[in-house]
Amino acid sequence: MIVRLVHGTTEETVRDLQESLEREGLRVLRSRERSRPILALAGKMPKGLVESLTSRPDVEDVTKPMGELLLVARSMRERPSVVDVGSVKVGGGTVVVIAGPCSVEGREHVLSVARQVRDAGAHLLRGGAFKPRTSPYQFQGFGVEGLRQLKDAGEATSLPVVSEIMDAADLPAFLEHDIDCLQVGARNMQNFSLLKAIARAGKPVLLKRGLAATVEEWLHAAEYLAEGGCERILLCERGIRTYEKATRNTLDLTVLPLMREWTHLPLLVDPAHAAGIARIIPPLSRAAIAAGADGVAVEVHENPAEARSDGPQALLPAELVHLVAESRVMAAATGRSLHAPSRG
Ligand code: PEP
Ligand code: MN
Repeated sequence: MIVRLVHGTTEETVRDLQESLEREGLRVLRSRERSRPILALAGKMPKGLVESLTSRPDVEDVTKPMGELLLVARSMRERPSVVDVGSVKVGGGTVVVIAGPCSVEGREHVLSVARQVRDAGAHLLRGGAFKPRTSPYQFQGFGVEGLRQLKDAGEATSLPVVSEIMDAADLPAFLEHDIDCLQVGARNMQNFSLLKAIARAGKPVLLKRGLAATVEEWLHAAEYLAEGGCERILLCERGIRTYEKATRNTLDLTVLPLMREWTHLPLLVDPAHAAGIARIIPPLSRAAIAAGADGVAVEVHENPAEARSDGPQALLPAELVHLVAESRVMAAATGRSLHAPSRG
């Protein structure tokens, strides 16, 4: 249950209420937003409590979010949340573009892509160093060396960097190299021990939707991060597994407007892993922004045929330039604007 108190309720009243609810055996979580006191109650609600809360003059309303969502539930905030990744603000009326190679393939390679990503006007640099590949015989990424190369490329171009973490044991390396945003890939969306471990790291987390995860499962995975202490969570729809074989996955834009009702977290869309086909990524990106996405994440390679992973879905740098320009138009068409260029 989420209890929103009326504006202007004194801190003393909020604390008294919190203590009395705790005496009832409930765990009480406070919203980080300070414009209005909001309490989330975890645990079994004693009989009659909702009614007695609702009848208090200092309670605006008491609502029940989907499932057991609390911290990520929409009613936990007055406004959709804005997540800082370096100097980039995700959510809150601007649109961002995340771009970069699927895998970091070497120092020169990632630096060159990073420059083109920056020149195209994208905001965050992505690149995988630990790669979740279907076959053990495929390129697995350069590991820690890849993180170093990615971060150096990000620093050289003033772009914050995003990279996938697959194992909590690698967390110290991500922190040591100051990776600005930890990506949890589709295959690890419900790896709860990984979520708990990274939740405490103090870094923004980009949580991709699982290959076959319902929105409810996805949001509860985000709740693990929030409950574990993560205050900066980004959600990223990347296509789900369906019977359709024409595309790699099926991009589920249907849920985007509904997610706005269920969560305050920023919503990103990765049309690349959904489509698996580079040439259809621009219209899917436009559609994602039209449906309200706070940004899109795409893959870029100068020579897709030679890419060490996901070449068929990689955009050429020139195509990224168009995609960013189109994102600007789509942002404006939906009453928003493209985020200002990144300053690192
Ligand atoms: C990726 O971003 O390169 C990736 C592996 O994504 P996903 O987890 O969505 O498949
Ligand atoms: Mn990829």
